[in-house]
Amino acid sequence: MCIQSEHGCPFTLVCAQCDAGDHITSYDQALAEGWTRIEFAPDLPMANYVGVCPDCREDFEGLTQDGKSERPD
Ligand SMILES: [Zn+2]
Repeated sequence: MCIQSEHGCPFTLVCAQCDAGDHITSYDQALAEGWTRIEFAPDLPMANYVGVCPDCREDFEGLTQDGKSERPD
């Protein structure tokens, strides 16, 4: 829980799709591990940032592209 500026907060991250992220300690580490869509989330009770972890990225990107799973062929 942190209500100050993001520069004053420890970097804690949670996945928007699952509960991964508790081992991430920096923004750079998250990027290096393949996290995407990382956003400052001061309202979250469990972390200061929310993103999409590498395991969920494919599912998340798939869900945002409606109809891609259907092959017109
Ligand atoms: Zn995840």
